[in-house]
Order: sequence, then C-alpha cells, then structure tokens
Amino acid sequence: TFFRVFFGIWFVIAALYLPVGFYYGSPNVAVISAVAETDFDEMTEFCSQLPIYFYFIPLLLILFFIILFKKFPFPKISNRYLIIFVLGLCCYKPIKIIAQYQPNNFSSIIYSFLSNIKYPILEFCIGFYESGKLYITEKQQQLKQIEQTNSIPIISVNPKHKTYVIIIGESVRKDYMSAYGFKYDNTPFARTQASVIWDGLIAPAPNTQSSIPHLISQSIFSNDKEVSAQLNNNIVSIANDAEFETYWLSNQGKLGTIEITVPRIAAYAKHSFYTKKGEYNGKSSKGKHDTLLLPELDNILLKGDNKPKLIVMHLIGSHSNFCKRLEFKVQFDLNNKNISCYVSTIKETDDLIAQTIDKLEKYKQDYSVVYFADHGLAHTDQHNDLRHNSDYQESYRVPFIFFDSDKSPQQKINKQISGFQLVYLLSNWMGIKLDIKHDYMQNDLFLIPEQQNIKVKDWNNNKLHQFNKLKKDPNPFN
Ligand SMILES: [Zn+2]
Repeated sequence: TFFRVFFGIWFVIAALYLPVGFYYGSPNVAVISAVAETDFDEMTEFCSQLPIYFYFIPLLLILFFIILFKKFPFPKISNRYLIIFVLGLCCYKPIKIIAQYQPNNFSSIIYSFLSNIKYPILEFCIGFYESGKLYITEKQQQLKQIEQTNSIPIISVNPKHKTYVIIIGESVRKDYMSAYGFKYDNTPFARTQASVIWDGLIAPAPNTQSSIPHLISQSIFSNDKEVSAQLNNNIVSIANDAEFETYWLSNQGKLGTIEITVPRIAAYAKHSFYTKKGEYNGKSSKGKHDTLLLPELDNILLKGDNKPKLIVMHLIGSHSNFCKRLEFKVQFDLNNKNISCYVSTIKETDDLIAQTIDKLEKYKQDYSVVYFADHGLAHTDQHNDLRHNSDYQESYRVPFIFFDSDKSPQQKINKQISGFQLVYLLSNWMGIKLDIKHDYMQNDLFLIPEQQNIKVKDWNNNKLHQFNKLKKDPNPFN
C-alpha cells in the first residue's frame, strides 16, 4: 500500500511536469527562475502558447496512473539474488564516487550517495534542490554586489553622442573575419561601414566568464603575477554614476553554474533583458538567436528620452556547437561542416550589427557603437573544429571595431593593446573622464600607444602569462 501511494503520487507529479519538462528540461535554474520571477503576463503567455495536447496528455496520464496504481496488482519479486544484483547495480556508481572523492562528513556522504543514484525521482528532487540553492545564493550575491557602487572618481562627463552601444561578441577570432583580411567575405558590413577597425586587441582570458569581467571592469594587478577584477568599477556602474540610462540586453545565460561573474556586472544595469532565464545552453535556450535582442532595442529607442544611453548587447554569437547557433542556412562552404558553420555565425553577427545600426538610424540617433569579442578559439580535431584553448595566441586575438553616426572615412589602427583596463578606454569613448592615470584614459583612440609585454590570464586561476610566449595557431582556410 505504501509503494502504491508513493509511486502513484510521483507518477502524477511527473505527468503534471510534462509540459514544463518538454520546454525547459529536467529541473534547472531556468525553471526555478521562471517560477520565482514570472509575472502574471508571462504565465498566461506560457499557458496560451502551450499546444492543446499539453493539456490533455497530462490529464489522460493522471487518470491512467490513478487507475493503474489502484487496480493493478504489483508484481512480487522474491528472488533474493535478483534484488541484490539490482541494488548493487544502483549503488555501484555512488559508492565508486564516494570512494574516489572521500567526502569528510556524514551528510555529504549521504548527499553524494543520493545525488549519484541515477533514479528519476531522486534526480528530479535533487535537480530542484540544487538549482534552487544556486538561484537563491546567486541572487543574494548579485544584490550584495550591486550595493558596492563605482568607486573611481569622475572628473567630467561630456558625451559626444547620445547613444552608446557595446556589442560583446562570442568566441570570434579576428582572422576569421573579412574585416581583418579573411578571404571569405563574412563581415561585409563591418569591412565597409566601420569607422575604425582596430587590429591588435588581446583579450584578457580565453573564456567568457573570466574575460568579460576584465574587459568591462577595472583590473587589480598584484606584482605582475596575478590579477583580479574589481567588479564594482565596471562600465555600467560608471555610466550610472555619470547619469547615463543603462541597459543590458543578453542572449547568454542569466543564471547557472558558470553564469556567475558576468550576470553580477549586468545586475548594475537599470534595465535588463534576458532571452534565457537559466543557462546559455539549457534546454529552454534552444532556438534563441541573437536577433531576439532587436525588438527590445526597438523598445528602448522608441522611448526617446533626452538622457545619454549606454546599451550593452551580449551575444551568443559563435559559441561552440556552431551549427546549432545558426539562425539561417550555412552561407559559406569551406569543405568542412563545423568551420563552415563557424564562418557563417560570424556573418550572422555582422548582419546583427548592421540591423542594430539600421535601428539607430531609423530613430535618428546620434550614436557610436563598439564591437569586440570576449575571446577567440583554437583549432582542434585536425582543423575540423575550434575550441576554447588557453595555449594559443589566437584564443586571445579578437576583433575591435567602431561604428559612428558621423560617417567619417574608415580608419585602420594596427597596434597591439591589452584588453585589461579596456573599461578606461570605453569610459573615455563615452566622454566620461575618470580620475585615473592610464594610456586609455589620457589619450584619444588614435593616440593610444602600442603596448609591450602584454599578459593574459588563465581560465581557472588568476595567474598571468606572457602573451608572446604562447603557441601560434594560424588559420588554414585563409
Ligand atoms: Zn565566450
């Protein structure tokens, strides 16, 4: 009787979860965020978009389960060897993991035992528990973070333009862009319409979560060997301080096991919009393309108030699993599926920049747009694919391109500069003079001197390495 009731209840819960599971997958932060943050409108939207069979199937299943667990006799298994064998099979992995990692107290032993039994009901509960815990702690951390505001004194604010847009691309090597000489013309807009094409920006780190904090917030160096990001002194908090209206539009994850540092910076924006509630790659993020940010940009520009604006657009762009990122068909054939997709994702980002500028012009904005990527990638699998790799220079060589409403003739700058402290360069570009002595703050764009001995950071610690000493990974398709 106990197991009839127990399993009956769980089968009914599973039937009720079916529509959510279909769209969001097993319990994860996206589900928790949706439950915790959804307003009435979003809920009715979700329900009204649900196909009619997602109402009937759970109902039918529930009826079926109730009858099944009430009427049907449960089979009795009395073969002891079979029971021992099945239990052994279930416990093999958790015991192996406990032996491997040796948790040091009773509750963590129990926890790692339960969380490693691949049993659906347990997995469901643990999924809810873990993502709930992550959601709550990370939300608290974000609130704690934004209590600390910008601490760099501002000397003056004289923005030349009304609207500033920072487009942060994803995983783009500059040598895969025609704007930097790549032989396939996958960035025709940037190549012809950019006001400045800067060749030589070196990203601070080889992955998103460690690179972006250093690109858009202040870095603190301790004796040239280590670096840390001073998250409160970021471009958004500085813009807030300078009385800009700040917006963060993101097609990356809002909250997840790796989405920690960038959302903490984004939390400073006065207005934010995420296409994905959980992880960048979760089930609910399927089919979410960067163009989803454009209607939101429309909404912002439509308002047309007089305050200067900073709009940050964080793209999923050319993230690994290139073919999956594509919204449209593959546009280039390099005789190599993954690389053809990669080159095409860069074209889609170029199109997105073109559409962004189109919107700015439609609303007659006086604008300046900057585009850079968070990091590059390196070849793997005999040049059949590209992956995050901290060992190669090309993992750090990223595009850095400006577009202006002034439409002055295009200029090219060939100087190597570091992505560390780029926040000063960006502040200066926005007309915000900070009380900081640095080449990026003291000089106009064209007068910034080339830098020697550029360093980059590892992805798993804060240790610095000499960029010049890294291996080279040339583009074989060029
Ligand atoms: Zn990235």
